[in-house]
Amino acid sequence: MSNAENTASNVRDVIIVGSGPAGYTAAVYTARANLKPLLIAGSVTAGGELMNTTDVENFPGFPEGVMGPDLMENFEKQAARFGTEIQFEDVTSLDLEGDIKTVTIATGESFQARSVILSTGSAYRELGLENEKRLSGHGVSWCATCDGFFFKDQDIAVIGGGDSAMEEALFLTKFAKSVTVVHRRDTLKASKIMGDRAQAHEKINFLWNTAVEDVLGADKVTGLKLKNLVDGSTSELPVTGVFVAIGNDPRTELVKDKLELTPEGTIAVQGRSSKTSIKGVFAAGDVIDPTYRQAITAAGSGCVAALDVEHYLAELHG
Ligand code: NAP
Repeated sequence: MSNAENTASNVRDVIIVGSGPAGYTAAVYTARANLKPLLIAGSVTAGGELMNTTDVENFPGFPEGVMGPDLMENFEKQAARFGTEIQFEDVTSLDLEGDIKTVTIATGESFQARSVILSTGSAYRELGLENEKRLSGHGVSWCATCDGFFFKDQDIAVIGGGDSAMEEALFLTKFAKSVTVVHRRDTLKASKIMGDRAQAHEKINFLWNTAVEDVLGADKVTGLKLKNLVDGSTSELPVTGVFVAIGNDPRTELVKDKLELTPEGTIAVQGRSSKTSIKGVFAAGDVIDPTYRQAITAAGSGCVAALDVEHYLAELHG
């Protein structure tokens, strides 16, 4: 075999970066289309956000609900069943220009493909306070299902007013003595069903129109410094745990200087397609979605990306 042939045979049809519902759905579709996808799942973040969730009640097909990690395990098994190759490593760099794209992972190994699907999801948003970072892992957390157990019989605060904050607060009632939701407005952004459930819970209190000014504590969290946004007064809330649940930002760090982004910071795609500003590069899931960001919409978006890749490769191969 000549060098040129050897190189060509090492070029895959498609590499998928990310292993949430979008990535795995893209893998199922491209694998069933015989494109032999390689999916780079990530190391600690493999499985995406649903790995940090408990009951998922709104993913169709599971009338009794399903645990987030179980759902992701099923996604993975289904992708593997049709021959998806999965690497549990982090991507460190992407070379997306030209007909052949190169994806490099943390071990230093590089893979080449004619097309890439980016489904890197989103990452927890931070309040941006110095002491939030310093006390992370010492009372400050972004994941109740991961860390809630450590806060048995303690007073805990949850920051935020969306579905995530309600879900975290409700989950934490299993362990906590009390849960105080600190929200900067006087109305919730959460869906009515989640908001009502949290507001009806005897262990959950709400502090409305309240911003977190600081996280207090030397080696571990002892409280929060709060500001009432209506009258400007400040106060301290004695808590030993703080769960920050104020949303997510799209994970675009690998591509933010290479691909066109939207004003919201997501990867820009053409119309309802998954086509990005570079030919042969497609994107799906939360990383392109500033609005809906549901597991089911991400899965649908992964399907769109797989079909776009199929059409792209069919045209490429003539
Ligand atoms: P979100 O809906 O964007 O809500 C974020 C909340 O945090 C908002 O209330 C926002 O306040 C507040 N916030 C944002 N930045 C802040 C800051 N710097 N300081 C203080 N507060 C801040 O995010 P999410 O709750 O993570 O939900 C994301 C998506 O996932 C949504 O579509 C949601 O429906 C979905 N989700 C669904 C479920 C479920 O159905 N079981 C569970 C979790 C998430 P404002 O209200 O002032 O904007």
